[in-house]
Amino acid sequence: MNTKYIFVTGGVVSSLGKGIISASIGKLLQARGFKVTIQKFDPYINIDPGTLNPYEHGECYVTEDGMETDLDLGHYERFTGIHTTRHNSITTGRIYKTVIDRERHGDYLGKTIQVVPHITDEIKRRMLREDEHGEDLDFVITEVGGTIGDIESAPFMEAIRQLRWQLGRDAVCVHLTYVPYLKAADELKTKPTQHSVKELQGMGIQPDILVLRTERHLDDSMRLKVASFCNVDLECVVQSEDVPSIYEVPVRMQRQGLDAAILRKIGIPVGETPTMKPWNNFLQKQRDAAREVHIALVGKYDLQDAYKSIRESLNLAGIYNDVKTKIHFVNSEEIAEENVAEKLSGVTGVVICPGFGQRGIEGKIIATEYTRTHDIPTFGICLGMQMMVIEFARNVLGYKDANSAEMNPDTPHNVIDMMEEQKSITEMGGTMRLGAYECELVPGSRTFELYGGETVIKERHRHRYEFNNKYKEEYETKGMKCVGINPAADLVEIVEIPALKWYIGTQFHPEYSSTVLRPHPLFMDFIKTCVNGTAEA
Ligand code: GLN
Repeated sequence: MNTKYIFVTGGVVSSLGKGIISASIGKLLQARGFKVTIQKFDPYINIDPGTLNPYEHGECYVTEDGMETDLDLGHYERFTGIHTTRHNSITTGRIYKTVIDRERHGDYLGKTIQVVPHITDEIKRRMLREDEHGEDLDFVITEVGGTIGDIESAPFMEAIRQLRWQLGRDAVCVHLTYVPYLKAADELKTKPTQHSVKELQGMGIQPDILVLRTERHLDDSMRLKVASFCNVDLECVVQSEDVPSIYEVPVRMQRQGLDAAILRKIGIPVGETPTMKPWNNFLQKQRDAAREVHIALVGKYDLQDAYKSIRESLNLAGIYNDVKTKIHFVNSEEIAEENVAEKLSGVTGVVICPGFGQRGIEGKIIATEYTRTHDIPTFGICLGMQMMVIEFARNVLGYKDANSAEMNPDTPHNVIDMMEEQKSITEMGGTMRLGAYECELVPGSRTFELYGGETVIKERHRHRYEFNNKYKEEYETKGMKCVGINPAADLVEIVEIPALKWYIGTQFHPEYSSTVLRPHPLFMDFIKTCVNGTAEA
């Protein structure tokens, strides 16, 4: 079958969960045996979100091929298990850069370069994934960031309009809107949805399917009203009510026939409804999990989205261990020697989060000292691992001034140092050690056992600094083992203290590769250990 294209846009307000709906559509089509990919087009001018502050943009998700992307790609991967690449995350900045580079190269000699057709053509080319050869896809789902009516998303809408026309039945437009409930009137209001669809129609796009986000159930008469005002079939008006877990969304959508409606629009026989057994088993486990495990997340960004993949990885690992993971954010800037015990009281495990820069690192170091000396299961990720290493140097190896060259370039004991190949780099964007690299595990280590006996694993990175091999022997002698090494560059990727219950730090980010159906072994074992340390309720 030739590739079909699904476009997902959003109206009324932002933060409706377009990413979750796109990921759910992907999951449902995949369950029917189709080969699917999901890509996101963001209308901002940055080339990628790599240089954005998490307060602006939440977590930066890294693909295997080293692209820094939007956190929605994390949802796509967790829901579907597909591996996204740099082709799955496009920004206005990248579109313009390609066109401008081409103009400088002389590719358009004699022509005036304009938004239409040059920018829109480049958007279309990317929406059709013309750079991706050899990929045999049945469906490409394209989510467009932002909300209908934003000035900056107009070229994307124009590209979709043209593609709809060009592709005919091979393209479907799904529009996500919001139906607010007005408490004073005790009424649900469809007017914003009607306006949003009108705006879309004004751009020449007739949505095929409407997904209405709502906090209250919409009855059939409501749906019928929307259907008739918006020129959409009744069976194509689907509601997405608030649910306790985002992972319930695909089955809710399936029950209302969202995937079947898409197939009908395209003209593909609908066939039997897939049972989605593994997914439903997972949901059942999630519903059944009664006990709780309390985990502290020690970081400096006090917002849900900043550590999205870590939170999801902890939740998923909890569900597979039959517990609900309760995450307690602990701001590392507020941790001091005097209060660390109180700050970490009530948790059975601690995650030391990734991050950049000086702010909040001393609190992280105090936390790692406390958990190491009190044998509390601790998982250090990227900067978190580096903090474990620094703490060990200061308090066990006796180098009181040990630090990372990132925080103090002049430290005499640079146990974390800048990588050689990073030293000559002056550009900030996309220049870190990014993407999946090989790591050789040391047989006999806990980590080796956890990966099921595999000797070489591949995990994703996003950092500039590294463990300084000059100190490796001292660490090993004193009990912190280097149990994962990148064979090509001889870089230490994993440290563990085998004498403790669970004290592991990874220079890579295992959270990027934990999915609903394949939770990551490190998170699984970390939570399992924490559960074992939790008293029965
Ligand atoms: N700032 C550290 C580095 O660049 C760690 C980065 C991270 O935690 N992602 O090496």
